[in-house]
Amino acid sequence: MIASARNRARKGTIPVNTCPCGSGRTYETCCEPYIAGAAWPPTAQTLMRARYTAYALGKIDYLGSTFAPSSGAAAHAKTAGEWAAKAKFNDLKVVSASKGGSDDNMGTVEFLATYEQDGQTWEHHEVSEFARDGQGHWRYIAGDSHRHARWTGTCHTEVRKSMVAGGGLEPPT
Ligand SMILES: [Zn+2]
Ligand SMILES: [Zn+2]
Repeated sequence: MIASARNRARKGTIPVNTCPCGSGRTYETCCEPYIAGAAWPPTAQTLMRARYTAYALGKIDYLGSTFAPSSGAAAHAKTAGEWAAKAKFNDLKVVSASKGGSDDNMGTVEFLATYEQDGQTWEHHEVSEFARDGQGHWRYIAGDSHRHARWTGTCHTEVRKSMVAGGGLEPPT
């Protein structure tokens, strides 16, 4: 339902069924294989994008399956699901990515996710940390985030200083 509304809104400007993560590719050739469980994202940034898409499409089970197992995944997935139900995710901008590639075991991704909630548009600004698990699969470890109406570029990675294990793409308090 969310996807079809999105496609109607975007029809005519970019290809129908463009992946919500903003890659410019179709959903089927971008985040869907990960969300469907057919493959694991090969990089930290790919996982970050797939998780954003899961928020945008309300694929909450996927969010739960990509948290680090030790980080209270079930509770985080519940919180994530409640937020995803209230918010409409409109845009993703990856600001920077560090490590998180095929030769790495850790990686960080800084991003801005634009969403609407209660009639207001916000930017969720987060630095997420990812690590490979015992099977070599990328997992979401922690994130630190805040929101603002519009990014000015001044807050940047200050957020990392207060990074807390088990955080997530969740509404700021
Ligand atoms: Zn995608
Ligand atoms: Zn910020």
